[in-house]
Amino acid sequence: MNTKLERNDLCWCGSGRKYKKCHMAFDDKIRLFSEQGHLVPEHEMIKTPEQIQAIKESCKINIAVLDYVSENIRAGMSTEEIDKMVYEKTTQLGGIPAPLGFEGFPKSVCTSINDQVCHGIPSEEDILHEGDIINVDVSTIYHGYFSDSSRMFCIGSVAPEAKKLVDVTKECVDIGIAHVKPWTFLGDMAAVINDHAKINGYSIVREIGGHGVGLQFHEEPWVSYVSEPGTEMLMVPGMIFTIEPMINMGVPDIYVDEANDWTVYTDDGQLSAQWEVTVLVTEDGCEVLCW
Ligand code: MN
Repeated sequence: MNTKLERNDLCWCGSGRKYKKCHMAFDDKIRLFSEQGHLVPEHEMIKTPEQIQAIKESCKINIAVLDYVSENIRAGMSTEEIDKMVYEKTTQLGGIPAPLGFEGFPKSVCTSINDQVCHGIPSEEDILHEGDIINVDVSTIYHGYFSDSSRMFCIGSVAPEAKKLVDVTKECVDIGIAHVKPWTFLGDMAAVINDHAKINGYSIVREIGGHGVGLQFHEEPWVSYVSEPGTEMLMVPGMIFTIEPMINMGVPDIYVDEANDWTVYTDDGQLSAQWEVTVLVTEDGCEVLCW
């Protein structure tokens, strides 16, 4: 823990209550895990009720933007048009697209088609064709609070194997959600996601994971989907992070496009899919804040 509070000090969480009546037992429990050698969250990773409420408002916009994309995406459309939709809907609702200008990213959304794993850059030249699968990854800033989620879209009718990849990737996220429980580990969740991908003959990207989110776009912890049970960070109530496995039909290996330094592709040119949700760890499981 990064603060040394006495029993009668005000709690670090801002509740206005004495530490002993608020988060003292909670911190003691976390310390036990730390003493056993586990990675545990800092106070900064545990959101207050006010922060959670503000992040939820941001999530509402993120959902509305993805719903809007969902209603309008179609064959013949360029990914530039998706970018316009995302910018216009987000700003109309009072938000700011978080990707725009983030570490130099030039657009408001990531659009990743077929063998693009993630960080596809919208372009007038990239036209959606019948049979394509595409990930649209939307992130919003609203009153300074961040949200992040993505969905897959099948353009027209797609090959059965592409549809299966999209469906199994969604199942992986659902299984992950079911395994977010306080006082267990991120690795417990990762392992069940990895197992489900593997039994379907797929692989999971190792280098890119999920992340804490809310006060910033990308916060601690790092969220892997290939780790072992009992490893990675302890989950405790109040943590908010993304579940966003990138699942490849072939090898897990990837490379970054040298031309734009952003877009990630599968090494073998086979398809990749990804769904992303933002979850809040609760007292008995989790709440999905945006999807
Ligand atoms: Mn994300």
